[in-house]
Amino acid sequence: MIPAAFEYAHASSVDEASKLLSKFGEDAKVLAGGHSLIPLMRLRLAQPAALVDINGIKELDNISERGGKLHIGALTRHVTIQNSSVVKDKLPLLAEIAGEVGDNQVRNMGTMGGVIAHADAAGDYPTLALMLDADVVTNQRTIHARDFFKDLFTTSLGPDEIVTEVVFPVANGPHKYIKFRRRLFDWAIVGVAAQKMNGDWRIGLTNVGPTPVRATAVEEALHKGAKPEEAALHASDGLDPSGDLRASPEYKKHLARVLTKRAIQQAQQ
Ligand SMILES: Cc1cc2nc3c(=O)[nH]c(=O)nc-3n(C[C@H](O)[C@H](O)[C@H](O)COP(=O)(O)OP(=O)(O)OC[C@H]3O[C@@H](n4cnc5c(N)ncnc54)[C@H](O)[C@@H]3O)c2cc1C
Repeated sequence: MIPAAFEYAHASSVDEASKLLSKFGEDAKVLAGGHSLIPLMRLRLAQPAALVDINGIKELDNISERGGKLHIGALTRHVTIQNSSVVKDKLPLLAEIAGEVGDNQVRNMGTMGGVIAHADAAGDYPTLALMLDADVVTNQRTIHARDFFKDLFTTSLGPDEIVTEVVFPVANGPHKYIKFRRRLFDWAIVGVAAQKMNGDWRIGLTNVGPTPVRATAVEEALHKGAKPEEAALHASDGLDPSGDLRASPEYKKHLARVLTKRAIQQAQQ
């Protein structure tokens, strides 16, 4: 399908993008990789009055480690994250996850900021951001990931707010992301991330609710000395996933338990 008519403007700085968003008003949208927004526009599920293209803002495309934190610019493409030696060294789980996003075309265009701002329940980076207590930095403020994801496709971003970077802690201990899907390039039916950090485990779940989930009951059980297979039984505690064509709620809860056990065990190997 063909999208509804819209205005288009190209920004070369965050300041200019912010001014353009204010000028166009609430119905304007940021355009990054376009791999979520454009399909929605073609289906007319999204009909923004204007697009503000941020692809020319070079300073948003960067990766650096500063003061024990890994800074990923909002415009950094999945393929860049996947291949970055800094990411592989400082937060290898993020490089692993980036390599699991979509297919080559998606990884060549899609961005860190786009996945975070789009807040799809099946998005992979939001899980990592939540479980590691990452910060989402915008042109206006810093938002803790736990306060950022509000509901399905809903974040605490204001209409003229632009994600500039996501700041993760450095963590390079045992880790694993398991993404359960039918085909290699599909979105997760359920995903589980496990990361050992400062002696304790962090466990995150993808696509088992409207927002990413931190499996704190599993983390606590592991902290108290439970074996992975015992702790993983708590992965479905409090979950109320919606069913879809690919999986019923019960099956998603089953997957959460099984994949959590596997993720911890594989991380330990
Ligand atoms: C076939 C296919 C398979 C995919 N598989 C996966 C997958 O397995 N896992 C996964 O996580 N994703 C997957 N994706 C989504 C992909 O990662 C998208 O790139 C991502 O969801 C959005 O990033 P984008 O840069 O393309 O953003 P866009 O599509 O340009 O924007 C998405 C939304 O975020 C907003 N936005 C973008 N950047 C910013 C910013 N800096 N500040 C504020 N708002 C912003 C836009 O206004 C829009 O509302 C898939 C996409 C496709 C087409």
